[in-house]
Amino acid sequence: MPRSNRPRGSGRSAEEDDDLTRLLTGWRRTEVRRGGSWNVQPIGETQATKEYACPGCGKAIEPGVAHVVTWRADGVLGDARDLADRRHWHSACWRLS
Ligand SMILES: [Zn+2]
Repeated sequence: MPRSNRPRGSGRSAEEDDDLTRLLTGWRRTEVRRGGSWNVQPIGETQATKEYACPGCGKAIEPGVAHVVTWRADGVLGDARDLADRRHWHSACWRLS
């Protein structure tokens, strides 16, 4: 009998999990900014499938626009928490931040 129960308590879509897997396994670099270390993961044009709000300029990052995702590399709360707090930036805005 097929099970139709959805996993409980997740609140996270499969798409989001794919996103996380890619972030955790993909190539990334570490930069020091604003007194801390940050993971910086470039997102290519073909990987950018959603619109995000850039914290640098407050404008939208349109789908199909290459940009970067950043999250702390030295957070005391651990990788999972830091990843949950990740931010999408225009590449130029991150460089200027
Ligand atoms: Zn921006």
